[in-house]
Amino acid sequence: MTQKSCSNCSGPAQFSMNIVVSTVGVSRRLQHSSSSVAFCPECLRELIDQICSAPLSLAVNSAYTRLNQQLEARSTTVDSSEGELSSR
Ligand SMILES: [Zn+2]
Repeated sequence: MTQKSCSNCSGPAQFSMNIVVSTVGVSRRLQHSSSSVAFCPECLRELIDQICSAPLSLAVNSAYTRLNQQLEARSTTVDSSEGELSSR
């Protein structure tokens, strides 16, 4: 597996994002997904901060937060004596 680099700063990417744009209020829904763009955590954070729509920024932020929580849960499995693994 090749290491992808961040589309913004060329550092090592850890996440990628793609956007789905769909029509609203049309009887036959149309939607299209963008190709995915890779980001390092810092640039992704910055991107989320700069989204000019507060609701979209919140939505993306909560997806990102959840992803990070899952990553953390996965990386702490080695020394987890509390049995947090099964809390889903
Ligand atoms: Zn970056």
